[in-house]
Amino acid sequence: MLKKKGILMVLSGFSGAGKGTLVKALLQKYDSYALSVSMTTRAPREGERDGVEYFFTDRQHFEETVGQNGFIEYASYCGNYYGTPRAYVEEQMAAGRNVILEIEIQGALKVKEKFPESLLIFVTPPSAEELKRRLENRGTETAEAIAQRLARAAEESEGVEAYDYIVVNDDLEACVEEIHRLVEAARCAPVRNTEFINKIREQLQSFSKGVK
Ligand code: 5GP
Repeated sequence: MLKKKGILMVLSGFSGAGKGTLVKALLQKYDSYALSVSMTTRAPREGERDGVEYFFTDRQHFEETVGQNGFIEYASYCGNYYGTPRAYVEEQMAAGRNVILEIEIQGALKVKEKFPESLLIFVTPPSAEELKRRLENRGTETAEAIAQRLARAAEESEGVEAYDYIVVNDDLEACVEEIHRLVEAARCAPVRNTEFINKIREQLQSFSKGVK
């Protein structure tokens, strides 16, 4: 049997692209996904809870965790550290789930380097104006922070070609389905099914022993 394994998937996109909402919808709709909760030195936003949106910590503890090889990747973004704790990702992958990393581009590239079979998806709003509007309407950031995030988005737009796919988040429901289809397709790629392929190859070779 082709036992499709869970994959490591990275969801990146400009701040304000709606990744958080997309991920929530994906987790609600399908039970084959697990979301990795990152650790950050950023201060919690209004309504964010420790251990849910992030594990909030200070720079010293973050750096100690780096020293203990506790992250599969980490990066600095707008003056704060963000990292993906290793243990949870490894556990969930072993349990066959598709593990979602909602991370920015430097982290995404490190993940691809370490795990070439990971799937990198970039989420974008339909236009730059829409992105600006969403960031302003969120009402959680100062004008300066919004300007910083827009500048960062301009930088990030240079790296989009490194991703496997780009999806436009215009209609939430349609976008969730599109991502799910991409993941399901990716799970069928030969590179993610090497165990099955090797097994069938071995069996075929044993059948053809003795045939001239
Ligand atoms: P925010 O401050 O808006 O929650 O996140 C800022 C950026 O950091 C977002 O692009 C988010 O996807 C990214 N991010 C969150 N967690 C991680 C992580 O563990 N590693 C990396 N490299 N980026 C992260």
